Amino acid sequence: MPRILIVGGGYAGFYTAWKLEKHLRKGEADVTIVDPLPYMTYQPFLPEVAAGSIEARHSVVALRRHLDKTSIVAAKVTGINHANKVATITPIAGEPYEMEYDQIVVTAGAVSRTFPIPGIADNAIGLKTIEEAVAIRDRLMSNFDKASTLPPGPERDRLLTVVVVGGGFAGIEVFAELRSLASSLVERYPQITFEDTHFHLVEAMGRIMPEVSLKTSEWVLRNLAKRGAAVHLDTQVTGAVDGNIELSTGETIPSDLIIWTAGVMANPTVVRGGDLPVEERGRIRTRADLRVGTEDEIVEGAWAAGDVSAVPDLSGGGVGGYCVPNAQHAVRQAKLLAKNLVAVLRGEVPKEYFHKNLGAVAGLGLWVGVFQSGKFALTGPLAWLAHRGYHGLAMPSWERKWRVIWGWWNNFWLGRDLVNLETVQNPRYVFEEFAARPRPPQPAVTPPAEPRGATKADAAKADAAR
Ligand SMILES: Cc1cc2nc3c(=O)[nH]c(=O)nc-3n(C[C@H](O)[C@H](O)[C@H](O)COP(=O)(O)OP(=O)(O)OC[C@H]3O[C@@H](n4cnc5c(N)ncnc54)[C@H](O)[C@@H]3O)c2cc1C
Repeated sequence: MPRILIVGGGYAGFYTAWKLEKHLRKGEADVTIVDPLPYMTYQPFLPEVAAGSIEARHSVVALRRHLDKTSIVAAKVTGINHANKVATITPIAGEPYEMEYDQIVVTAGAVSRTFPIPGIADNAIGLKTIEEAVAIRDRLMSNFDKASTLPPGPERDRLLTVVVVGGGFAGIEVFAELRSLASSLVERYPQITFEDTHFHLVEAMGRIMPEVSLKTSEWVLRNLAKRGAAVHLDTQVTGAVDGNIELSTGETIPSDLIIWTAGVMANPTVVRGGDLPVEERGRIRTRADLRVGTEDEIVEGAWAAGDVSAVPDLSGGGVGGYCVPNAQHAVRQAKLLAKNLVAVLRGEVPKEYFHKNLGAVAGLGLWVGVFQSGKFALTGPLAWLAHRGYHGLAMPSWERKWRVIWGWWNNFWLGRDLVNLETVQNPRYVFEEFAARPRPPQPAVTPPAEPRGATKADAAKADAAR
């Protein structure tokens, strides 16, 4: 039986496995998915998770619940030796080992791309994982708690200042969502006013959200300005040492919450740790039929999709002729990849990937959104409803759709959930404080030596005297 190894169980990996389960006949191939995480993350929901509009667990999809016929391995792939069709598997516990395969599907996604700016690696947080989204929310809420106990001054200002770096979709969405969360929080903290909170977004280019028209992006800028959020265009972050954000304009913004969303790069562990061909921007060179290779040269038995790959965009869109890294492509590529892989196993001809961009939709906090498809644009509450409608339905599996949509319904009637569980990072703090501990051993008391030749009666007298 051919062995199919899928590297990464995110969008593209999960959908590939899901669809392979559907297309493969019983006993036709053996599928294994390797991912250090037990779930696929629905990343477009991360800004709403950070803002508390979606429960963190609801925005991920458990691999073991939805992949019945696929073997799931909790590990990283740290090497691919395709010449010998062997991958190095580094499990989350235990020693690395080698796994042989016949077909490999590389869907290891992308990671935050940073620059060597002093302080960023130590002080900023990215927004690619559910853990980061949860930590961002907890930090903002804890900072409100701390600030509410402090007198006005620099420390209080620092706690109530949020800086987002990067004005792409992810950056603008999380920035606007957090602004919306902070405005809700202000209503619950009599000690903190709206004017006490400071929101700054830093973007190196002269505009935000390149996925929408200039006019739509300007609407977003005006909307954010009205909501008391400052956007610094044509500005770069030059330092973030000790949480002091230094800008190329000479301004310094002290902040306790710095979120870095200025770009992504193909997963370097998988790309550099293997012998598959890589293009100039560090992605796996992939053909339009999703096999690894070029138009003229196919790397047999290797496939790639999603953010880790450079797939030609036959619709004429994309950047530099390749599909842009987004979920729209990752999902559709994965579905076709599964079909093509089965076709190749059966000796049939695979099809080429063609997808015309559907447009873009973003949520910018409660009841504010933008939607753009070609020249058609919507802004405000209708676009926000379109955002929720699209993503609510795009969430994989009815089980997950139901949880997310039900959560929104509950929030609509009950309000935003303002629970902060930051202490989960130190769960033993109460137990440790009150836990009974064994008494420390007492120092042994050595009785003085008895005088030589003393009788029992003398010893009793000596004891009494003591
Ligand atoms: C905040 C945010 C908002 C977004 N909003 C949108 C949106 O509205 N619309 C849209 O179309 N796109 C959006 N995107 C982009 C979209 O989420 C990504 O393009 C998509 O997730 C890419 O899918 P993927 O499968 O390539 O990678 P991922 O979904 O990132 O999956 C990669 C998987 O590989 C695993 N992995 C990593 N290293 C290894 C290894 N060494 N071995 C094995 N497994 C490994 C990871 O754990 C992960 O599960 C957004 C992204 C972010 C961050």
